[in-house]
Amino acid sequence: MAEIIDGRAVAKQVEAETKAQVDAMVAAGKPRPGLAVILVGEDPASEVYVGRKIKNCAEVGIRSFEHRMPADTSEPELLALIATLNEDPEIHGILCQVPLPKHIDTGKVLRAIAPSKDVDGFHPVNVGRLSTGTGGIIPCTPLGVMKLLDTVIDDLTGLDVVVIGKSNIVGKPIAMLMLEREATVTVTHIYTENLADLCRQADVIVAAAGAPGLVRGYWVKPGAVIIDVGITRVKGEHGKTHLVGDVVFDEVQHAKAVTPVPGGVGPMTIACLLANTVQAAREQVDGTSRDSFDIDWDDLPDRSMFSKQDAERPQAASHTFEENRKASYDADWYAEASVDTDFYLHI
Ligand code: NAD
Repeated sequence: MAEIIDGRAVAKQVEAETKAQVDAMVAAGKPRPGLAVILVGEDPASEVYVGRKIKNCAEVGIRSFEHRMPADTSEPELLALIATLNEDPEIHGILCQVPLPKHIDTGKVLRAIAPSKDVDGFHPVNVGRLSTGTGGIIPCTPLGVMKLLDTVIDDLTGLDVVVIGKSNIVGKPIAMLMLEREATVTVTHIYTENLADLCRQADVIVAAAGAPGLVRGYWVKPGAVIIDVGITRVKGEHGKTHLVGDVVFDEVQHAKAVTPVPGGVGPMTIACLLANTVQAAREQVDGTSRDSFDIDWDDLPDRSMFSKQDAERPQAASHTFEENRKASYDADWYAEASVDTDFYLHI
């Protein structure tokens, strides 16, 4: 059986370390880290996320400042709040919960957050620093993925890693972090040919597609490590909804280790947000944070992380999830392998 990587336990550990860092800062006479959380509108899922973030802040000793704004808040009003928070010395991290109402340009708002306070790590300055290995704040979910991997793999050097999904907030930063660790990285997406083949070569698969049941047992090499980032809410038999990942968990028990959904990557995201807030506070207090590369980002063409280009483009029929799976089933080899995962459990 594959080892189940317990994201809740690792997240608790990360939060305990963060609390110790907060306590040490305060004991040394430094300011207590403060996080501003902005919620525009009344999206129920966002309400839940924001509530959890605020609760977890309190548990590790971070001060949180909640800013609730009505759904009809204008973009200039939101930008004005961010400008105020950027200048506020009590605020070390600013989080603007997405999705924002449609009349607000999400990319513009997130770029307005000072990079030194951008605890989500979405600002182009932080993205650039990650890509060039020059520090900065690392997006929370990718950072969480690396911390989970660290619990089962000592050294990623030379390992083959397949990342499924190339979004700017999950897939791409994960790929960058893997490259930093000297892994050989293949980044794949909805238009990738032979995804099953690529996965079968991989020592590590990070699935971040949001496509339930995409990664089947026969896609997985015995002994590989699988991190399932995907979270999709699906309706069960009796109309009740539950969360599922991108990986068919029961079929990948010949892997070395796998994360469950829920209880895998999810809890790590908030734990890493708290860790990022403390990092941001420490760097601001020590004067080591940087706010720009002196670039006028607003003059650049907007190929931003939030335009969801994939979702908007028509999908080539041969690359839809069902077609991908069908293509794999059609190949003789996979047809054989697909009934053979039990075999791996016994070798
Ligand atoms: P996204 O929609 O921005 O990107 C999805 C990516 O997956 C795209 O690059 C797309 O090309 C690729 N893709 C989609 N279907 C595919 C398929 N059938 N085959 C191959 N590639 C496919 O999504 P995102 O924001 O990157 O999030 C991805 C998933 O991770 C979602 O399920 C999301 O809910 C989840 N997520 C979880 C956490 C967490 O805390 N655990 C955080 C962020 C995102």
